[in-house]
Amino acid sequence: MYFEDLSLCDYHSGPYASCSWSVPLLAIGWLEHPHSFSKGGTLHELSQRLEEFTYASRKCYPSYCFRGVHQCSHCLLGERGNPRSVQTHVNLWIPGERVVYIAPALIIHYIGDHGYHPPDEFIAAVMRCPEYGSSSYCDALQAANVGLPPPLKLKDQVDAEFKEQLERALALRGMRATPPGTGA
Ligand SMILES: [Zn+2]
Repeated sequence: MYFEDLSLCDYHSGPYASCSWSVPLLAIGWLEHPHSFSKGGTLHELSQRLEEFTYASRKCYPSYCFRGVHQCSHCLLGERGNPRSVQTHVNLWIPGERVVYIAPALIIHYIGDHGYHPPDEFIAAVMRCPEYGSSSYCDALQAANVGLPPPLKLKDQVDAEFKEQLERALALRGMRATPPGTGA
C-alpha cells in the first residue's frame, strides 16, 4: 500500500482511518516500488527510538497488528532485486501538533537499508514522543487529538472491555463468567 508522505491515511477502519480521529492522520513511510522517496542523512537515533516503539507496540497494542504483513517491495522489485523479503505487521501512531502520524514499522528498514529520510516534522515528533504505550504517551496522543480520546486502546483496556461484555452476555443467560468460590 502506497501513501505519499504527509498525505491522509485512510487504510482501514478504527485507528487506521483518518475519519476516526479528530485531527488529520498523516501517512509516513508507506513506501512502495516504483514510487521515489526522499533520501539522505544518518538517522541512528531515530531508528533506535522507532525500534523501541515497535517492541513496545507488540506488547501494548497487539490487537492492532495487521492480519497480513507489509512487505518491502523495493527489496523484492527494486533495481538490485534483493530477494530478501522484509516484512512486518506492526504500525506506529506518533502524536504531532494537531496531527497524528501513522508509520509502518517497516520504516526502520527503509531508513537503515534504503537511506529513506522521513519528513523533519515526523522526526521531531518521534524524538519528543514519550515511551510508547505509557500513560504519558496516551496523554500526548489525546492532546494531539485536540483533547479527545484516541481510537487506539491499550491491551488492558481491550481485555477489560472484552471481559465486561462476556460477563454481561453470561449474566443475561443466568451464568457466571468466573467459577464459584473464586471470590469474584
Ligand atoms: Zn527493502
